[in-house]
Amino acid sequence: MKLFSLFKQELAIDLGTANTLIIQDGVVVVDEPSIVAYNRRSEETIAVGRKAMQMHEKTHEEIKTIRPLKDGVIADFKAAENMIEGMIRMIGRKRRFFTHLKMVICIPSGITEVEKRAVFDSADHVDSKETYLIYEPMAAALGIGLDVEEPIGNMIIDIGGGTTEIAVIALSGIVTDQSIRIAGDELTTDIMNYMKRQHNILIGERTAEQIKIHVGSALPVLEDPPADFAVNGRDLMTGIPKQIFVTYQEIAHAIDESITAIEEAVLRALEATPPELASDIYRTGLYLTGGGALLRGLDKRISSKTKLPVHVAEDPLRAVVRGTSAALADTDRYMPILIPRGSV
Ligand code: ADP
Ligand code: MG
Repeated sequence: MKLFSLFKQELAIDLGTANTLIIQDGVVVVDEPSIVAYNRRSEETIAVGRKAMQMHEKTHEEIKTIRPLKDGVIADFKAAENMIEGMIRMIGRKRRFFTHLKMVICIPSGITEVEKRAVFDSADHVDSKETYLIYEPMAAALGIGLDVEEPIGNMIIDIGGGTTEIAVIALSGIVTDQSIRIAGDELTTDIMNYMKRQHNILIGERTAEQIKIHVGSALPVLEDPPADFAVNGRDLMTGIPKQIFVTYQEIAHAIDESITAIEEAVLRALEATPPELASDIYRTGLYLTGGGALLRGLDKRISSKTKLPVHVAEDPLRAVVRGTSAALADTDRYMPILIPRGSV
């Protein structure tokens, strides 16, 4: 038994549109942005993850960067495969031929059969001997510590980079599932547009994301407001780099419409929930997870809209990978929520 476990490698992978995380033996060993950099001519992979992100929006003819997942689906198969392989290579494979590699990979629930097959194929390329997929809301629920097997309904709102997924889970299944393509990336785009419109300043995606993290807010008034944030960009009029300061109130205004769209999706999901489960949710409340859960005031805003308690998951950026890892640790028990190779 001991000898066998020496040659065992088990990986839980959260393949997110914004971030890819891997847990090995209960420890997060990879936590990188989902992005690949290529040499344009040779098509060779130059870098994956953080290193590739540093090149993003600073590339020239020789290099291009690709985010393989967009809007919760795999937009570029080959890039997705290269990314998965590159990230697994970061951890290092144990002795290749003797090692039994087992993986559970978390996928957005909107992906097609063809895309599922592509994910299985990527797993084959890294010599996985046993691969399962798990749907994101299910992994999120497990990661939050909810008992997904119980006959009790729980609503999970996962706000990632590309999609917001709202699911009701009970009895090891996804009862209702709403997915909208408004999430972190959209808020970032809102901020870029706002800066251009309001301040005549052009900023890149990464600067806009920093603004969102530092002074992003779902509410126009916060009890504990963040300090104004210095933004560097290019003046639209003069073409010269300049610096301005933005307030959280401005950002609350800039992203308000997108937040409203998320709120409306939550309301639609509640409407689509069967009454017995709705009565559970009235008691248990809503669980917010994914990077978007960190947006200031979002819990309060959704709570006042729905009149329901809203809980923010602990470490929301890692809830999904933790849940994936929990499923991996006990694949027999969680077989009802796992998708095995043969089923697609
Ligand atoms: P995915 O599962 O799609 O990879 P994540 O759950 O990793 O997405 O969340 C990534 C998103 O969360 C990004 O759009 C990122 O900008 C956003 N995000 C991260 N931290 C914060 C924060 N403090 N406030 C608002 N948004 C955040
Ligand atoms: Mg995610």
